[in-house]
Amino acid sequence: MSKKLWKAWLREHRPSPEDLMDELFRKIMLKEITVCETCDTIFDYKPQKKYCDNCRKVRYEEKKERRKVHYEENKEKVLAENKVYYEKNKEKIHLRQKEYRKENKEKINSRNRAWYKKNKMRRN
Ligand SMILES: [Zn+2]
Repeated sequence: MSKKLWKAWLREHRPSPEDLMDELFRKIMLKEITVCETCDTIFDYKPQKKYCDNCRKVRYEEKKERRKVHYEENKEKVLAENKVYYEKNKEKIHLRQKEYRKENKEKINSRNRAWYKKNKMRRN
């Protein structure tokens, strides 16, 4: 095939933007990929995942910041609410903590060791 003919063939058979959109749409429907809700980045489908990693990070930071501001502005109210929640769910909370300690013994021990080491050093 001559170069000229080859180019003409390519022009005709190259997927059009419509074809690409169809393909994209099909993949989204098949749950192979997802388009980020805020920035249109395409990423591999994961259940419940609506945003790309970058946007997730940004959203997480924003949420953290909002929470911090809310806490600073409503400290007493938040603490009172926490207290009420604690009183109501004492047993559940203690049980969860017990489970956590049982499952993360090594992690907690090494954290305690590190803390002890750090504070011992400071004392001497
Ligand atoms: Zn995004």
